[in-house]
Amino acid sequence: MAKLACKICKKLVTGDKCPLHPDAKLVESWKGRIIILNPEKSELAKKMKIIDKGEYAIRL
Ligand SMILES: [Zn+2]
Repeated sequence: MAKLACKICKKLVTGDKCPLHPDAKLVESWKGRIIILNPEKSELAKKMKIIDKGEYAIRL
């Protein structure tokens, strides 16, 4: 199954909704991918306002 990106946090999910944003729309046409392991320590995570570890799309 293709991964979809949450429109709010850009998290890549394989299910039918983002665990953090069950009401958010999922986008199929995302570009790029980053994996955040330590959101507290990652500058990129701060910049992208990522608070949960996981896989994220760079652009939607
Ligand atoms: Zn989300």
